[in-house]
Amino acid sequence: MNMITNHLPTEELQALDAAHHMHPFTEGEGLAEKGARVITRANGVWITDSDGQEILDGMAGLWCVAIGYGRDELAEVAARQMRELPFYNTFFQTTHVPAIALAKKLAELAPDDLNHVFFAGSGSEANDTNIRMVRHYWAMKGQPERNIILSRKNAYHGSSMGSGSLGGMAGMHAQGGLPIPDIHHINQPNWWAEGGDSDPADFGLARARELETAIKEHGPERVAAFIGEPVQGAGGVIVPPETYWPEIQRICDHYGILLIADEVICGFGRTGNWFGSQTMGIRPHIMTVAKGLSSGYAPIGASIVCDEVAQTIAKDEFNHGYTYSGHPVAAAVALENLRILEEEKVVEHVRDVAGPYLKEKWQALEDHPLVGEARIVGLMGSIALTPDKASRAGFAGEAGTVGYICRERCFANNLVMRHVGDRMIIAPPLVITRDEIDILIDRARKSLDETY
Ligand code: PLP
Repeated sequence: MNMITNHLPTEELQALDAAHHMHPFTEGEGLAEKGARVITRANGVWITDSDGQEILDGMAGLWCVAIGYGRDELAEVAARQMRELPFYNTFFQTTHVPAIALAKKLAELAPDDLNHVFFAGSGSEANDTNIRMVRHYWAMKGQPERNIILSRKNAYHGSSMGSGSLGGMAGMHAQGGLPIPDIHHINQPNWWAEGGDSDPADFGLARARELETAIKEHGPERVAAFIGEPVQGAGGVIVPPETYWPEIQRICDHYGILLIADEVICGFGRTGNWFGSQTMGIRPHIMTVAKGLSSGYAPIGASIVCDEVAQTIAKDEFNHGYTYSGHPVAAAVALENLRILEEEKVVEHVRDVAGPYLKEKWQALEDHPLVGEARIVGLMGSIALTPDKASRAGFAGEAGTVGYICRERCFANNLVMRHVGDRMIIAPPLVITRDEIDILIDRARKSLDETY
């Protein structure tokens, strides 16, 4: 058999890829025509493709690689753990040291009484756990009819049947039978696109109060939980008005509804605190984590759960779990990643150095004729492209066309930025330096100029 290695010509790799590899969220015919860019290695904030181009990864992989690429410590920990105990399950009254140690560490890092951890293999799996867990919690409390979960349009919570239903992506709901029953969506707090001529603070309150309206419509005795990303990520980095989350918190408290913060993107420093909930001032009963938990070096996710919910669930067997819940290699890698985040003060770097520096440069892009608002929290930012800043109008023709062109220009200029419709988004590795931020901004501006 011919070996397929990095040394094959790019066209050959692309042809094999298009012939055999089905890509997530990618149109197959486009792949066959154009070929996917083949990424062969990476270091720090830089990825390298099969033609030897060095690309600044403004998306940290897929919001994952907090500590940057190429950290040998993680590779060594993984190899050591594979030799010692490559796998054992955590079902049926067995456990192992990496799962114990990581659960304890997460309980220490998480705020308030979020002291209990249910492991999964990904963010989607963790959110599926949350659906079953909150419903089971209310059943255990003698309120089995409390099974409705409220979420938001344009939210992203994963791609499985459950998590895809929690998400509010219209394109996903149009395929494959989503959403499952008893999950409903309220509007998102996207002032730029939907706020009209309202004041952002009033708009934030009005959008939060849609939660109260939905609770009353369904009946408070039917509603189990509300789930939200502290800052909506895949929906376009929608930074909510400051009035939004405090009102959501008040409403959840008032009706005794569980609050789930999906921290899959916001967790582990992305917003300048350990968790986005802290940045937004909310007190969730459950947090979903993944991605930055291991910096993407190994697949792992988790639900971090408060005392009341965990202790109630523990009174019965929770008939739920994944073969890879608490996988020892992934847990050991995650633990090492958290050690690096802590010892190298990466969260402080985002809060005090890289975040403020990028914010200044990012917001300065608002002087570009194509750029409407430029929003950023910590190291997650977005810019809305518009033909008319004053009216905040969209472009004529199909939404996303200009965003796509801009993304392609970025890619040609060796910068990874994503587009969500006509919003450009960035979320670089958290260890990015000022010099690298300068390069990122130069390439972004050049790409905007070429799109204009
Ligand atoms: N939740 C949020 C906020 C996400 O952004 C994602 C992935 O992008 C997920 C959940 C799903 O995580 P995974 O892709 O690991 O299943």
